[in-house]
Order: sequence, then C-alpha cells, then structure tokens
Amino acid sequence: MEILQAASDKKVQQSSKRFTTSLVAFFIALPVVIITLTMYSNPSVMDNIITTSAIPLGGIRVLNISDDNISTESEVGEKLQNDKEKLLHGLLASGFDEASCISRLQSHLYRKPSPHNPSPYLISKLRSYEQIHRRCGPNTRAYHRSMTKIVKNHGASASASASAMCKYIVWTPANGLANQMLSIAATFLYAILTDRVLLVKIGEDKHGLFCEPFLNSTWILPEKSPFWNVGQQVQTYQSILQKNMANNSTIEEHLLPSVLFVNLAHTRDDPEKFFHCNHSQDLLKKVPLLILQSDQYFVPSLFMTPIFNLKINKMFPEKDTIFHHLGRYLFHPSNEAWRLISKFYQEHLANAAEKLGLQIRLFNGDSVPKQAVMDVLMSCTLENKLLPEISTQNSVSSSVKNLTVKAVLVASLYQDIGDNLRAMYLKRPTVTGELIEVFQPSHEGHQKINDYEHYLKAWTDIYLLSLSDVLVTTHMSTFGYVAQSLGNLRPWLLYQLASNDTRVPQCTQDFSMEPCYHFAPRHYCNGMPIEDFSSFLYLRKCKDISTGVKLVNDPV
Ligand code: GDP
Repeated sequence: MEILQAASDKKVQQSSKRFTTSLVAFFIALPVVIITLTMYSNPSVMDNIITTSAIPLGGIRVLNISDDNISTESEVGEKLQNDKEKLLHGLLASGFDEASCISRLQSHLYRKPSPHNPSPYLISKLRSYEQIHRRCGPNTRAYHRSMTKIVKNHGASASASASAMCKYIVWTPANGLANQMLSIAATFLYAILTDRVLLVKIGEDKHGLFCEPFLNSTWILPEKSPFWNVGQQVQTYQSILQKNMANNSTIEEHLLPSVLFVNLAHTRDDPEKFFHCNHSQDLLKKVPLLILQSDQYFVPSLFMTPIFNLKINKMFPEKDTIFHHLGRYLFHPSNEAWRLISKFYQEHLANAAEKLGLQIRLFNGDSVPKQAVMDVLMSCTLENKLLPEISTQNSVSSSVKNLTVKAVLVASLYQDIGDNLRAMYLKRPTVTGELIEVFQPSHEGHQKINDYEHYLKAWTDIYLLSLSDVLVTTHMSTFGYVAQSLGNLRPWLLYQLASNDTRVPQCTQDFSMEPCYHFAPRHYCNGMPIEDFSSFLYLRKCKDISTGVKLVNDPV
C-alpha cells in the first residue's frame, strides 16, 4: 500500500512539475510569438523598430514602439504621427520607393519637428503640379509631342493654343551650389504659378547629389534635348522687352518666338528687368518654353507681381516659410550624400546636448588674416553666449555638476578655423562647465567648379548645418541661407568677414529664416524708382545687403 501510495504521489509530483514547466514555457513563448507575428504582419512597425534602434539620436525624438509599456492605442497613435512626420505633414507625396531615397523618409528622425505645417492650398498645388509633371515630363508622349512643336518653332501662338501642349521652364545654373538651390526653388514656385513643367539642367557634376523630387518622373533635362546648350539663336526676354518699349505697345502674339531666354542672374549694374510686372508676365505666358538662368532667390519679385500675389499668399500664409517648405520638398540628399551626412551626424553630433553650427565664408579668400576671422567669430559667439568663456581656474567650478557636451560644427573652406577653435577649447574647462567639441567635416581650400566630390562635401556641410540648434552664418552667403531655411533657424549673421568696416556690429540675429533676394527690383512697373519697400507689405530690406529684400510674416 505504502509502496503504491508513494509511487502514485511521485507520479502526481512529476505531472504537476511537468505542468508548471509547460505553463512557464507557454508564458515565456506567448509574448515572443505575438511580437514576432505583429512585426511580420506589419512591416512598417518592423521598419520603425529597425530604423529607430539603428540611429542613436541624442536630443532627438526616438520612436519607442518596441517599449513594453506602450498600450496598443497609443502605439497606433504614435505610428500615425510618425507617418505624418515622415511625409512632413502632407508636403511630400506618398508612394515613393523608400530604398531609392532613404533620406526622404528618414530626415524627420534627425530634425526637430517643424512648427510650420504646409497649408492645404500649398499641398493641393503640389499634388496638381506633380500630375502635370507626370503627364508632360521627359519620356512621355506629351513631352515628345510638345517638344517637337516647340523645336519646329511654330511661333508662340500656334504652340500655346494647342490643347495638349505642355509648357516648360528650363532652369540653367549660375554661380555656386547654394545660389543654384535657391534659384531652383524660386523657379519651381514660378513653374507652379504659371502651369509650367520645371526641367533642370543639372550636369554630371551634380547629378548624384539629390533624389528625384517628383514621383514616377524625372526633373532632369535630358542631355539630348536641343535646349541643353542654349545658343545665340534663342531670343532673349530683354530684347523682346526693349522692342515692346520701343513700339510703346505689346508685341503681337504671332511674332513671339516659341523659346525665350530669361536671364535673371542679377548684378548691381543690370538694367531693370520688370519681371515683377503683370505686363511682362502677360507676354511670357504666351511663350511655351522659357530658358531661365538665375543665381538668385527671386521669390520676392514673384510676390511683388500682382497676378501672383494672391496665390502666393494663399499657398504660404506664413510668408517667411517659402524656402523652408519648397527646400524640404525639393532637396533630398541622394543615398550617397545621406550616407555621409547620417554617418557624420551619428559619430559626432547625435549625443551632444546642443549643436552649434558655424558657417564661415571668406569671400576674399586668403587675403583675410585668419586671426581677424577668429576675433570676429569669438566676439560674436562669446558676447551672445553661443559659446562659453574659458575658465581661468584650472578645474571646472564645483558648482557645475553636470558636464554637458556642446558640439560645434564648423563649415568652411579653411582648415585653420576648425583647428583654432578646437585648440582653444581642447581640454580646457569653461565657465559653464560645458565641454566644447569641435568638428569640421571638410576643408576644401578653395571653391571649385564642375567637381562632383566637391559639391558632395558642400551639400553635406549645408545639410549638417541645417541640423544645428543654433546657427551662425556669414552675411550675404547663400550657403548659410539654405541651411537656415531647411533647419527653421534664425541665424546670427557675422558681419565684417568680408569688409573691414568696423562701424557695423560683429554679428546680429536675423529677423527671419527666409533667404534674402540680393538684387530686388528697383522700379515700379510704371518706371518710377522704388525708394523703399514700404508700399509692399511683407517685404523688408535684408540686414546683410542693402540692395536685398526678403519676405516677413508680419506686415511692415
Ligand atoms: P555663397 O557663394 O556663399 O553664396 O554660396 P554658394 O554655395 O553659392 O557658392 C560657394 C561655393 O563654394 C559652394 O557651393 C562650395 O562649392 C564652396 N564652399 C563655400 N563654403 C564652403 C564650405 O563651408 N564647405 C564646403 N564644402 N564648400 C564650401
């Protein structure tokens, strides 16, 4: 009996042990199975987990979808919010192949979210533009049909009136990379306002810098296009304007050419172009293909044009966000550029408590003594508490407990700038207790042209500057303009780097992030000189160049 009893007790013990083990195994396995199933049935959740854990983003929002504490509802909410931010609140179209342009969908992980959402009207204009571009862009039937007609030079009236006819604006480059980016954005706005298709003449030296901005199409002017090399045979807008003025009447439509060259690359001594006038735009809209050359951000000129003004107002209720939106819409670093940008960011900037960008552009190159540059830079950054003073004590003050890292990103053609600054702070305590780390991604020595690697470095610098929390730029430099607008930053403008004028302050903070149009129109459309811009609400003289204007949000 006892033996039997003991045997049955042992059996019971064994089976209860097995049951407990199975129960434990079941509870361990259950969440694993659920998580795995969720991940594979929903690849975008998988993406988030992979993406976010792969990027150590100090100071930047990291989606924590894998966090056990998150309830399903908040998880879904966060996912929706993430999707919204990925597409910049509707600015970007969905449907792109993610792998072909990684930056398009990852950039929001590196930037602070923009407080400026695109207006519904801007979004609708962008979606309509994309449709026109898809219909009329290179490699389409409409493109070949329209181009054939334009080349045969049917005259403006014949071409423009044909219903299936597409109208184009071919952008051609002038000046450095940032000048070009600004003028592309302005030309794109002009294309939207005039229902033209934007084609950019981007050569091999810049082909690989940006992703294609328009879904299922290209914005690059085909190299085989007869408009790749504009010759003497193309009439200029200036000559038509002069003919108009000489006749004191508008030139008849059938006498207009089908192609017109519009040179908006301003200099100080240029004759007035009257591009901001309705009568010029009435004439230009009849020409099916415009070839536009500009190194300028001529958006204020479009804003001054009565027939465009209302539409721009509606597209951009916040007027100082035009490049901010158009730049973020158009310029996505290519995968090659993104590898450089994201690698540099992760290695040097991600974990800093604050990132200060310094853009030092010496227009006179080597003729400016580097010590003078350092003096201007230090007095600007110290006075405005952008950088801390070096402590005179040997050790960090005992009142300062938390040693935080401030990363300083130096963008300059010259190596000495970064080296000097680094040497100044290296292993020396600062009065705030901050640790200053200085990085300079490149130092090209001098500006180069037709050089892909050089432009790649320039684009990397511009983009990294735009990821700063605080930005110091050099006055009149479009390099800084692009960075500040992409990054939603109101920069501190460094004066005196180009001149020895000691009457101006060494630096001052700009009133908006919008780029400056260096050579604004100087006449009203009736030919009277514009004394100041007070008759144009929302236009204000730039702080950094006396001939320039830029858009502001509040009426002046
Ligand atoms: P801006 O002349 O300052 O208005 O700017 P642009 O970009 O139009 O022209 C300057 C050109 O010089 C750039 O495109 C670069 O080729 C080069 N460059 C100037 N500053 C820098 C810099 O800080 N970093 C790099 N990598 N290139 C620069």
